[in-house]
Parts: sequence; C-alpha cells; structure tokens
Amino acid sequence: MNEKIQKAAEMIRQYDGPGLRIMEVCGTHTHEIFRLGIRNMLPENIRLISGPGCPVCVTPVGYIDEALMLALEKGCTIATFGDLVRVPGSEMSLADARAKGAKIEMVYSPLDAEKYAEEHPEEQVVFLSVGFETTTPASCLAVRNARKAGIPNFAILTANKTMDNAYRALRGSADAFLYPGHVSTITGTGIYHELMREGISGVVCGFTGPEVITALAVILKKTEEGRPFFVNCYPRVVTEEGSASGREIIRSTMEPVDAEWRGLGIIPSSGLALRGEFEDWDARKKFDLPEIKGHGNPACRCGEVLQGKCRPDQCPVFGRACTPEHPVGACMVSGEGACSAYYKYDFNRR
Ligand code: SF4
Repeated sequence: MNEKIQKAAEMIRQYDGPGLRIMEVCGTHTHEIFRLGIRNMLPENIRLISGPGCPVCVTPVGYIDEALMLALEKGCTIATFGDLVRVPGSEMSLADARAKGAKIEMVYSPLDAEKYAEEHPEEQVVFLSVGFETTTPASCLAVRNARKAGIPNFAILTANKTMDNAYRALRGSADAFLYPGHVSTITGTGIYHELMREGISGVVCGFTGPEVITALAVILKKTEEGRPFFVNCYPRVVTEEGSASGREIIRSTMEPVDAEWRGLGIIPSSGLALRGEFEDWDARKKFDLPEIKGHGNPACRCGEVLQGKCRPDQCPVFGRACTPEHPVGACMVSGEGACSAYYKYDFNRR
C-alpha cells in the first residue's frame, strides 16, 4: 500500500463524523469489498449498503415466468447465462423446467445464442437478454446480425435496464453512491453531473483495493464540504464521453420503456425494448406472450435488500432455508447478489 493509500485508509478508520450511508450500486463492488476485507476497516458510523446493480437480482419474477412459458408452452429453446437458470419463478425455476423436458442451453454471450440458432434451424431459440448498459450492446448486435444473416429462428426476451432513473428512484436511500465502473465506461460521466445538480452525490469507483479505498476517502472528504458532489475516481477506465459507439448501437436498436425492477417496482423509462423494426426478433411479440404478473416467495426480502432497507442476514431465511445451494430468491443465486456475498464472505466466518 503506498503512502497516499495508507493516508486514505487511516482517514476512513478515524472517521468520527455523522453517520454516513454509502450504497455500492454494483454487485461486483459488493463482492470485491467483502473479498478485500474493506468492510472490516470501516468505523461504525460508515455503513455500506448494497444496491440494485446486479442484473439477475433486479429481474422480476414475472420475467422468469415468461421464460418458462416460452420453454414449456411455446416449445422454444431458452439460451441463457447460467445464473438465470436457478432463479425461482412463481412456481418453478428454469432448472426445474429442464427436468420436465424443457430445452435450456447455457451460453456465454448473445452472439453464442445467435450462432446456436443458426446451427439449429429446426429450433426456435430465445436468448434471455438481461443486463445494464455494459451488456446490452451485445444483445443489440446479435439481433442486428440475425436480421442481416436472415436467421428467423432467433429472438430475445428483453429485460435490459438503464441505471440513471434507478439512482433517482433510490434518492434518500443513501448519502452517496459508489457508481459502477463497468456501466460508466459506456454512459460516460455526464449523467453523474446531472444527478449532482439534482442533489444526488456519488463517485465512480474502480475495483482494486486502492481504488475502493480512494473512492471512500473522497466521499468522506467531499461530504464534509456539505454540498452535492461527483468525482470520477476511476479515470484510468471511465471517461467523460464514455462509449459513443456502445450507446449508438443501443439507441438505434432499442428504445426506452417503463420497466419493473424487483423491489423497486416500475421505474419510468428505465428499461429497453427492441424498436418496431426488429419486432420479428422480439420474443414477446413473436410468441404473443400475455402480460404475466409473477409472485415471489413471501419469505424472501430481496426487494428490501436491493433498496438497502434490509441487510441480507436480517432476512429470516438467510443461511437456513436460503443458501447458494437452495436459493429462495435471486440475490442468493447470482454471483453478484448481495445475499450470496454475505453468505460467502460474512456468514461463513461466524
Ligand atoms: S436470503 Fe434468500 S430469501 Fe432472503 S432476501 Fe436473500 S435471496 Fe431472498
């Protein structure tokens, strides 16, 4: 640890100001902060709370039910990242559906799913497109490729989301945000200046120990000044402009829609759906899906965890009925989920 970082760490340890709630928005931050032991160096008056930045965690139960309907009733092959397979829907998970004969293919990217569709023209392949600004361009690219190559048996089920209005919906849940490094590489930092003008404070944060310590120290220093702030503490990767090409492929392929977030409800213009010209690749339209209202397990408090209103270990089934082997809610399934982080790094130490 160099001298500058040591000083920043000391400043954090010695902090004796008013209670401060800092929300780490990104699931990768939640896990890295645990893994690096940074929580252990915080005084009691600094509280880190986990936010809604894990795409699998914020995907509502109804979305899993839509995927189940496609798999079990419409005969589609579901192509998906591994985490989503174990997320419980209203009645079952996609893993349960697979045991009943549904075809579920694990893929590493939307382009893999599109390739699978091309190689299996006898199957109707639907890719489960969840994620934020970082991963959405790849879904857009897969749809564009499918249109260009004339692959009619490929579609995506969108649950893509954007973070800007989620920060606004979370106003008051935290005194400052640790903004996600990855998403910011696409969005740039303009949005954070806008949020600062609206009274919302935060810093963009990297993922190494020194970067997280620096970001936390900057929050303490800026909070002392007593006015809303924004600082880019990850300038080696995140620029003011972000990725214009990434934003352009999203803008030209998808359009903003109101979206349901697990725990946060409907947030206006926080989701993305395929534009009309791509409707042949939109699974909801192609397979005429009805609107499905999912219902999660009433014991699960994922919704409150995602808003920072409840710590995972305050959920009555945490570590008992709900474990990574037998997850009751999405936050215990996902590798980026707050419940899985608490279980892995905290619960196991007790
Ligand atoms: S511990 Fe399990 S049931 Fe409780 S909030 Fe987390 S995921 Fe939901």
